[in-house]
Amino acid sequence: MDKKTIGILGGGQLGRMVVEAANRLNINTVILDAPNSPAKQINAVSDHVDGSFTHYESIVKLAEKSDVLTIEIEHIDVDALKRVQQKFPHVSIYPLPETIKLIQDKYLQKEHLISHEVAVTESLPVLENTEEALLKIGEAFDYPFMLKSRTLAYDGRGNFVVKSAEYIKDALEFLKDRPLYAEKWCPFVKELAVMVVRSLEGEVFAYPTVETVHQDNICHLVYAPARIPDTLAKKASILANNAVKSFPGCGIFGVEMFLLPNNELLINEIAPRPHNSGHYTIDACVTSQFEAHVRAVAGLPMPKGFTEFSTTSTNAIMLNVLGDKEVANKELEICRRALEIPHGTVYLYGKATRPDRKMGHINIVSSSMEDCENRLSYILGESTEIPA
Ligand code: ATP
Ligand code: MG
Ligand code: MG
Repeated sequence: MDKKTIGILGGGQLGRMVVEAANRLNINTVILDAPNSPAKQINAVSDHVDGSFTHYESIVKLAEKSDVLTIEIEHIDVDALKRVQQKFPHVSIYPLPETIKLIQDKYLQKEHLISHEVAVTESLPVLENTEEALLKIGEAFDYPFMLKSRTLAYDGRGNFVVKSAEYIKDALEFLKDRPLYAEKWCPFVKELAVMVVRSLEGEVFAYPTVETVHQDNICHLVYAPARIPDTLAKKASILANNAVKSFPGCGIFGVEMFLLPNNELLINEIAPRPHNSGHYTIDACVTSQFEAHVRAVAGLPMPKGFTEFSTTSTNAIMLNVLGDKEVANKELEICRRALEIPHGTVYLYGKATRPDRKMGHINIVSSSMEDCENRLSYILGESTEIPA
């Protein structure tokens, strides 16, 4: 399809699913990550790079084998990537290093979005990690407020809910010497997400607006479409498109947002890569988020409607499969039950099990959300009758 080789910084499950999409199009991929990482396991024909995506020399080795570089994780060394860009001017890098730099610092990301008139949760920088500084934030925001690490956050591991002034000590202890900022508490009624893919020409295509349900800060379920009125879903889609339009370059972006009781929408954060809230697209949409990303960075066609649901009656639920908290590999029982239901598809990532680790996901697709919910109940062991 395309002679370009795509080099991917990071070989986790997102990279693995990008490789799958690229394979179908005969597009070669090379991965930079630890040996036998999930993405390398399913692409044995390529000469991958063993090393770290935060290491300049390793990125150089990847660039030597690539026409395009992309990422599956934003926590990379942008300065190293910029040096690589200067050394290999013929290699395109998408998303742009400047975009990754802006997004990987959640506070800078917010300032950028505000400067483009995109609605975000209200935030304040924490200039010093001291009790006095946080007490001042408590006065400005009231309690609870959310204290967040500006960088290297995932699955809520850089967040601390400051419920009252008494929690400030614990918050500082938990987040130690990390660079911090604070967010006003968002009393959301739902969390929504929209995947948006941007072409090199700057055209944006939004996937359907979905609803995400988190448990212990980790994405648990995704309902596609979101169970909200169409007008609100459209509003979310416009907000996500506007946000992604503010980042030059191309590729897929995951936009997380909060729906407030007064129907206001605020962006929580943006990921410059495929996103957990978009896994449902593999089975529910015309083109998966992973293929959309490959098409964007490889400069392949992106026709109108290619991000839509496959049919006008498509409904889907995505369930994340996390490592069982107590018994190693017990999560596979959920996967086995998913294989028993109609239109259930299981994806396992080839990772060693650990409590709460993202081990895989299950997509359930049907013409009604009620069907999807019945099938989910069976998978979760809440009902014993296999749904039709
Ligand atoms: P990931 O990158 O895995 O999505 P993260 O570590 O970057 O997660 P956030 O997305 O900032 O973390 O927050 C995780 C969850 O915490 C959110 O999905 C939401 O449920 C809750 N949360 C975050 N910010 C706020 C806020 N300001 N008010 C209320 N809840 C919040
Ligand atoms: Mg995040
Ligand atoms: Mg998040």
